Amino acid sequence: MAHILIVEDEERIASFVAKGLRAEGHRTTVAADGATGLDHALAGDVDLVVLDIGLPRIDGFELLDQLRSQGSRVPVIVLTARDSVTDTVTALEGGADDYMPKPFRFAELSARVRLRLRQATAATAATATNGTGDQLSAGGIELDLRTRRASVAGDEVELSAREFALAEIFLRNAGQVLSREQLLDHVWGLDFDPGSNVVDVYVGYLRRKLGARAITTVRGMGYRFDR
Ligand code: CA
Repeated sequence: MAHILIVEDEERIASFVAKGLRAEGHRTTVAADGATGLDHALAGDVDLVVLDIGLPRIDGFELLDQLRSQGSRVPVIVLTARDSVTDTVTALEGGADDYMPKPFRFAELSARVRLRLRQATAATAATATNGTGDQLSAGGIELDLRTRRASVAGDEVELSAREFALAEIFLRNAGQVLSREQLLDHVWGLDFDPGSNVVDVYVGYLRRKLGARAITTVRGMGYRFDR
């Protein structure tokens, strides 16, 4: 059982989501505007947030930005309009862990909630097992898996949650070609539209932050990180 915060101003959607999650044994809190949602999310006992983008007072992007800038790593699933690719990429770049295009069936959201809760539990367990100072490094790039900080040649760089996850998979598989499908699967989970260019967009972000030569494009196959 988890405590799930639903930040959604459309009462019909909020109650549909809350009812479904409660039926699966979770505890739910609903906030109908962004400011109230942020207060709840920062209160600390929330295991996952389902976040709408269009919200009164402060919108979902702003909420996410404030949540991450205050150090919260709580998993966030963003609800977006189905055809709004820009919104989706902006949300993921801003630190969302996943997105759910509207309209959606409850089963689709439920699958994502389960996946994100499982990953959050696994991350906590890994931290507990490895203790402090869990580092990955290759090619002058260092990732601290515990604090989620990244540095290049000793200089700290800001990575979003999604960029960090992508960097982590590259460093763990240095020297190997990773296909777009593998990267989508590892970093985005579930069935992100395979026609989406989200991987290429994020590789572009990473190159800008980690250095243009950090990641090589292997034509027709995918990407490779070289040590
Ligand atoms: Ca809304």
